[in-house]
Amino acid sequence: MSPDFTPALSLDLGATPPGRPDHGQRPAETGDTAVHDVVIVGSGPAGYTAAIYTARADLNPIVLAGSVTAGGDLMNTTDVENYPGFTDGIMGPELMATMQAQAERFGADVRYEDAIKLELEGPIKEITVEGGEVLRARTVILATGSAYRELGLEDEKRLSGHGVSWCATCDGFFFKGQNIAVVGGGDSAIEEATFLTKFADKVTLIHRRDEFRASEIMQKRAFDDPKIEILWNKRVIGISGEAKVEELSLEDTVTGEVGALPVTGLFVAIGSDPRTHLFKDQVEITAEGTVAVDARSSRTSLPGVFAAGDVLDSTYRQAVTAAGSGCVAAIDVEHYLATVKA
Ligand SMILES: Cc1cc2nc3c(=O)[nH]c(=O)nc-3n(C[C@H](O)[C@H](O)[C@H](O)COP(=O)(O)OP(=O)(O)OC[C@H]3O[C@@H](n4cnc5c(N)ncnc54)[C@H](O)[C@@H]3O)c2cc1C
Repeated sequence: MSPDFTPALSLDLGATPPGRPDHGQRPAETGDTAVHDVVIVGSGPAGYTAAIYTARADLNPIVLAGSVTAGGDLMNTTDVENYPGFTDGIMGPELMATMQAQAERFGADVRYEDAIKLELEGPIKEITVEGGEVLRARTVILATGSAYRELGLEDEKRLSGHGVSWCATCDGFFFKGQNIAVVGGGDSAIEEATFLTKFADKVTLIHRRDEFRASEIMQKRAFDDPKIEILWNKRVIGISGEAKVEELSLEDTVTGEVGALPVTGLFVAIGSDPRTHLFKDQVEITAEGTVAVDARSSRTSLPGVFAAGDVLDSTYRQAVTAAGSGCVAAIDVEHYLATVKA
């Protein structure tokens, strides 16, 4: 997110920028009977980092980047200021294009397609891509990320990166001295709100009920914080502003009365859903809904199946942690293949 929320996208991304199926789209070849060493499902920081490492290890990775969401979550933001290596920050889409180019430089085969079916049991995994082609591989890295829940409002996407955010750690810094709002009622909403008081002058916590779901200790933190004002029984029904967020429309969930709240930022903290629908019946899933892995490794409950990034992470969920996790998965794949091939 940019401090003044001005879109400053001026990218020279080379021939195959991510995020658009019509940019360098390459349909998967048909009749692929080869058994590949590794197929990576997902093209966020986790997927591309796994691709860089496995490509440099001569494992010729295929990356299923997704048909409309290639590049992952960072395609939806503007300035990324906390990814190491970029003194002045970098635009999210540019960062992802750079990661993709780096993976392709070492030979990663990036395809703008979705995996639609995964059969992960047994030594050879089968990955069906849209269009029907079936890829066969000894290993699969699941790097499908996690989707932040949205309010479902018309202007929410338009103002994403321009005042609407899903990540206080990522964007709190941009709201110094401002008057902002957080919507949600669980632990994470209160955690975001209290974190944001470091920067904002005032944080209005909007909750649709008259009590929080959050734990007692978290609630006390919110009640005791002089910078936090709580609005009970309110739901956000509109976000307005031309270039950036200026005002929220709030509806009282008891009386139906509608009012306006002038703010320059809205943090949506109503949960997230790890994208596990294709494989949640095959690999073990944690109580939080993320893929379960063995200790600090990326090993899932199935041999040859590894996970990386936000799909296994209910806590940290940052680009740099996802990238680190992609590196872990690639190294685990190398070790696994070395063992099975021996
Ligand atoms: C608006 C916003 C701003 C953010 N800002 C920052 C920031 O400033 N700094 C920071 O560190 N973090 C930021 N984050 C968090 C960061 O983007 C995530 O932690 C990170 O992108 C997670 O990486 P990932 O690779 O695990 O998943 P994602 O980036 O979510 O990528 C998932 C990938 O999986 C693919 N996929 C899913 N299903 C399929 C399928 N069936 N077939 C093929 N592909 C599939 C998608 O196409 C996508 O490429 C932000 C997040 C959001 C939403």
